[in-house]
This record gives sequence, C-alpha cells and structure tokens, in this order.
Amino acid sequence: GEALAVSARVAPLGSRLVLLLVEDLTEARRIEAVRRDFVANVSHELKTPVGALSLLSEAVMDASDDPEAVERFAGRMQIEATRLTNLVQELIDLSRVQNDDPLEDAEPVRVGELVAEAVDRCRHQAGTKQITMAAGGTAELSIWGNRGQLAAALGNLVENAVNYSPARTRVGIAARRVTAPGGDLIEIAVTDQGIGISEKDRERVFERFYRVDPARSRQTGGTGLGLAIVKHVAASHGGEVTVWSSEGQGSTFTLRLPEAGAARDRVTDHHMPG
Ligand code: ADP
Repeated sequence: GEALAVSARVAPLGSRLVLLLVEDLTEARRIEAVRRDFVANVSHELKTPVGALSLLSEAVMDASDDPEAVERFAGRMQIEATRLTNLVQELIDLSRVQNDDPLEDAEPVRVGELVAEAVDRCRHQAGTKQITMAAGGTAELSIWGNRGQLAAALGNLVENAVNYSPARTRVGIAARRVTAPGGDLIEIAVTDQGIGISEKDRERVFERFYRVDPARSRQTGGTGLGLAIVKHVAASHGGEVTVWSSEGQGSTFTLRLPEAGAARDRVTDHHMPG
C-alpha cells in the first residue's frame, strides 16, 4: 500500500534510493508493530494478577464469617501481589538495560563475585528442591562491564536453571577465559539437568514474554522477561548468550563477555593519538 505508492513516486530517482526508502518504511513498521505487541503483552500480563486480586478480595468479603476461608484467600492474594511486584520489577530492569549504556560506567567486575551473588539469590529455592549448586574456574577472572547489569544477567540464568529442574539434580556454573580475535572473552556456562528446551522453542526463549509452558512459568513466579534481559545485557556489552539443550536431559546457557584487561585496552586505544 503506502510503501508501494512511495516507491512509485520516487522511482525516477533511481532504484537504489527507492530500495532504501522502502526498507526504511518496512523497518519503521516492524518497530511500530513490536512496540504495539509489547504494550499489548504488558497489559495482558498486568491484567491477570490484577483480575485475580479483584476476585479474591470479593471472595474475602463474602467469606467474612469463615476465618479459615479468609485466611486461604488472603494467602492467594499475597501470591498474586508478589507476582505483580516481580513483573513490575522486571519491567523496570528491562527498560533500564534497554536505555542505559552499560559501558558508560563500566569497571572490572570479578566473576567470582557475580557467581557468589547469583548462587546466593537462589540458595533458598535450591535448598527446598535439594538441588546442588557447584561453581568452578571463576578465580581471578574479571569482566569489563556494568556490575548491576551483569549480576542481573547471571542471576537470571542461575534462577532459571533451578526453576526448570526437578528435585535432587545439579546446577553447575563454570567460567573460563577464551581467546578471541577482538580480545579475550570470559565464558560463563550455566548447566542444569532439567526439563530442557525443544529446538523450536530454543529460537524463541529470548523473546520478551515468550514461555514454553506459561502455566509452569507462572507457578514459579516467572515473567517471561528474564532471558530477554540477559540477551540485551550480553549484546550491549559486546558479547552474546547462546543455549544448548537436550529435551528431558538439561540445558546449558553460555554467556560470552569481554575480559576486563582486553576490553580496557580497547577503550584506551580510542584515546590514543594517531
Ligand atoms: P521466565 O520468567 O518464564 O522464566 P525467561 O525469559 O527467563 O522467563 O525464560 C523464558 C522461558 O524459557 C521460560 O518460561 C522457560 O519455558 C524457558 N527456560 C528458560 N530457562 C530454562 C532452563 N534452564 N531449562 C528449561 N527451560 C528454560
């Protein structure tokens, strides 16, 4: 429609320009569609717990002469309120990683500290499921980046590993330095023996609000935003996150991020004359 009309009008200017204009329009449309989807998704995700809270508060009022029922409904209200809080917090985190340039206040961040923090965050949940957590290889390694964002990224991966694993399994976190043409990278692999992710879903799990099993994700307090945040943090640090998985066997999520020494050298290069 519109794009074609524009292309017809500017056709005499040369096919190269026409192509650029059409591509621009298509890209603008795509961005607009993504934005609209996102707003629709957020609205839907907010509506679910708010709707539940509203119904539950009515139930509490109707059950005012049955203290046991009141207690039961109040408990469920608490769960829904927690869900709402998690969602809002993750939305804030996502908007922060999308808007802030992480390298503006980058510093060397010790991998050992990041791993300890991530493990701490999941300690309670891992304990109830009797999941063993083991970390190795982190000594002396540092990443060049934004401490808060890196902590959020690794924390999400470890949290997922625990959430999507059955009881009495093992979650491993292994770090190492790998040589790469643009400077050394730090690789952190989070491996679980959980439910795994099918090939079809593997391509989509990094999308905002995508969940393989929405019911299960909600049960564990998931928002569907965690891996989108991880992917964004990795990319804005000049790194990447990849996933390997075998259904029913487990998954490995691997973060590759710039090593502190190498990245700092690169930054210094920019300021050197000549
Ligand atoms: P959620 O808040 O639902 O965990 P994420 O963005 O972190 O959202 O993950 C998206 C989906 O990817 C999850 O709902 C889950 O289906 C799947 N997933 C993520 N990590 C794992 C894992 N370690 N093992 C199996 N499935 C996973």
